[in-house]
Amino acid sequence: MTPEEFRKAGHELIDWIADYRQRIDSYPVRAQVTPGEVHRKLPDSPPSQSESLDALITDLENIVVPGITQVQHPMHYGWFPSNAALASVLGDITSSGLGTLGISWESCPALTEVEEVVCDWMRQLAGLSDSWQGTIHDTASTACLTALLVARERLSEFSEFGGGLQGLNKPLIVYTTEQAHTSVVKAAMLAGFGQLNIRQISTDPQTYAMSADVLQRTMADDVDKGYIPAVVVASLGSTGVVTFDPVDEVVDIAAQHGAWVHADAAMAGTAMMLPECRDLFKGIEGADSISWNPHKWMGTILDTSLFYVRDPRTLVHVMSTNPSYLRSSVDGDVTQYRDWGIPLGRRFRALKLWFHLRLDGPEAICERLRRDLDNAKWLERQVSTTDNWKVVAPVRLQTICIRHEPPGLEGEALDAHTLTWVNAINESGKAFLSASVLDGRWMVRVSIGVESTTRDHVKALWELLQATALEKLV
Ligand SMILES: *Cc1c(COP(=O)(O)O)cnc(C)c1O
Repeated sequence: MTPEEFRKAGHELIDWIADYRQRIDSYPVRAQVTPGEVHRKLPDSPPSQSESLDALITDLENIVVPGITQVQHPMHYGWFPSNAALASVLGDITSSGLGTLGISWESCPALTEVEEVVCDWMRQLAGLSDSWQGTIHDTASTACLTALLVARERLSEFSEFGGGLQGLNKPLIVYTTEQAHTSVVKAAMLAGFGQLNIRQISTDPQTYAMSADVLQRTMADDVDKGYIPAVVVASLGSTGVVTFDPVDEVVDIAAQHGAWVHADAAMAGTAMMLPECRDLFKGIEGADSISWNPHKWMGTILDTSLFYVRDPRTLVHVMSTNPSYLRSSVDGDVTQYRDWGIPLGRRFRALKLWFHLRLDGPEAICERLRRDLDNAKWLERQVSTTDNWKVVAPVRLQTICIRHEPPGLEGEALDAHTLTWVNAINESGKAFLSASVLDGRWMVRVSIGVESTTRDHVKALWELLQATALEKLV
């Protein structure tokens, strides 16, 4: 494809994307396809000749779009807001269009230095002190794995340069809670800590936040046994109920043992942009690393996951390989982001944030976040003041965990009722919600925060919830 052909096709494709976004609320929220349906509609073998853009767009319309669960739909309340602000989409397209290679500062100085600057802008917008330095990873899962690898090395006196974990005679212990994201246990296992050395610290029965007392006792107990408390992963906005572990107490306890503290604020980190929400993060300055996904509620399209550390030297010490073919005369003066994570080749991801912040502006983004918080408060009020409806966990931000509890329904019968009404809504395509288990019982999470979701949409959802739950009550 020549640049001229690209220009023509690009205009057409951008028009198609804009139209698609405009009519997104005409699609069912959850994809209505059956397993294998998309696959069967595609040819078994690759094309033998070039095809037209029209043929591609036709297949996008007829095969791909029906196979999308429309997370940009204003009635999407599942999982978490996975916004893809169009301003950031332009940044993503630009990143691809420039076709840069990020393997060293030299291979694209702008890639490195724009990333330094936008990470620092984001730090300022979050109200974090200037003792943090950031980079952009693909996901919070990668950021968590990176943090755990660095923690492992710091607490094992850099065993990677010797016998590795196989040379240690004391187990390194990881602490988190059952409310933490599954990526935490996955990262701990992949980083070689071993499942037996992961402690699920119990949580407060009302707030579901990590119990600092239990953490204190468990760490002391491990020390008595000759183990090494290595790292605490604190959830700042957990996945299920969006609870906040008491990171201020956690950092004090961890400091007694020199343990690393990773603050997982993947979803809720966006709330740091609102000064009125910063109390929830009290103590985060004492952590060693922070992960925060602008690609969730804030809306900078995937994959944009910020990873901040207070001590990049340790990070670089663990991650650096510095092969001869990548060395250059400026190495001492520049940031080599390949040494801040696992991949060598990196995309120009910073452009997504750069475009988003410059074209939409932080003020408009914050206004939208406040709108979502108001909508969540409104729904919480409706649910908590309506007979037989219950809010089952404290509402900290934009996620409301609810249950319809008609008299006489308990235990498994109540679970069956919950799953019946939520599945009916999801199958209808009118709205999408996630069911989740809390204290052994199914509940339904309403995660508000899609860019296009207004109060009217939340009102429509509340009507739909009540009507469907009653209808399914036989
Ligand atoms: C979404 C989420 C993750 C995982 O994020 P990815 O970027 O998809 O890996 C981790 N922790 C929390 C608290 C999350 O909400």
